[in-house]
Amino acid sequence: MPRTYEAPPSENTGCKQGLYIHIPFCKQRCIYCDFYSTTCGEAEKAAFAEALCAELVSRKEEAEGRQLTTIYLGGGTPSQLSGEALTRIFSTIHSAYTIDPDAEITIEANPDDISKDFIAVLQSTGVNRVSLGIQTFNEDLLKILHRRHNASQARNAVLTLHEAGFVNLSIDLIYGLPGQSLDTWRHDIDTALRLPIKHLSAYALTYEDGTQLTRLRDIGKLKEAGEETYRSSFYLLKELAEAAGFEHYEISNFARSGWRSRHNSSYWDGSPYIGCGPGAHSFDAKRTRRENRADLCAYLNTPGAPAFREEHLSQNESRNEFVFTALRTNVGVNLELLSRQFGAAALSELLNAATPYLRLKELEERDGHLRLTPAGLFLSDMIMRDLMTV
Ligand code: SF4
Repeated sequence: MPRTYEAPPSENTGCKQGLYIHIPFCKQRCIYCDFYSTTCGEAEKAAFAEALCAELVSRKEEAEGRQLTTIYLGGGTPSQLSGEALTRIFSTIHSAYTIDPDAEITIEANPDDISKDFIAVLQSTGVNRVSLGIQTFNEDLLKILHRRHNASQARNAVLTLHEAGFVNLSIDLIYGLPGQSLDTWRHDIDTALRLPIKHLSAYALTYEDGTQLTRLRDIGKLKEAGEETYRSSFYLLKELAEAAGFEHYEISNFARSGWRSRHNSSYWDGSPYIGCGPGAHSFDAKRTRRENRADLCAYLNTPGAPAFREEHLSQNESRNEFVFTALRTNVGVNLELLSRQFGAAALSELLNAATPYLRLKELEERDGHLRLTPAGLFLSDMIMRDLMTV
């Protein structure tokens, strides 16, 4: 049986260690997506599993004797890997790293990949959380987005996993889709909330450079939703999810009590994580970020030693990250911790910059934390820009 979790993530990052694995394969490309992935065949996937295992082994020292508290297979589409490849990857993780017995182990999956065989692989590898990329339950919109599944496959995927004993289920939705009315969005939210899920992530559609979505908009084939549509979609989601008992714990994330994503929470509380696979990011919880080169061919040619670039954060960059990541969550910025880590001047600078938003009640200072109010959540990008120090 999958394990269950009750405790919310704490602000103490001392004993956490995440492992992220980027699986760079998709069966077909969705028109809005700019994540690194390819549509290669089985031979490349098998070679990738080998190269990934080599990288996992070569980087095990980075965990420095800590147990892995979260493991997350994202992509791309991890459910596009064969059962053998997934089994090989997990057995390498188990032999190279020590895994906390209560670790959260997540795999992202597409609804149409959920089969008896796939579920059997998940059960045998210790996966205890599945995150399904559903995006919408509207058939027309699914086709426009070039998603592989239909609405009933999406619902059935959740129900099948639940019947198989997976309790910790999450789904992703997108709002602000071209032609999506508020009623259509309400139907998506209602459908999601009737399913046996513990977690819901919902993102505003973004028009990224180089995507087909952006090209279609630029030649007038699609109409981008206006700001008011994004705003009302966001607040409708918040209202309905909270009424159904979900906690709005991060700008784009909702969870039933005790079921926050521990892995994603570690991105927001500054915990260390090792990222393996092409394009994967790592952070040492001090000042160093690493990004593997997003190039599958190069990755396959250098097993265990992928090319990467490192960024050493300055004091200012580090302070900005501390503020922005914490501000995304409903915990907010721990002001005492900020002062301890970055000095009293950093604290007064932050509170000065925050003053106009505190007056407008878009930020609040309470219990030693600075956080976005409901009114400020939708304006988070602008507010964070204004709180940045250069
Ligand atoms: S949204 Fe997911 S399935 Fe679609 S192309 Fe991007 S990574 Fe692949």
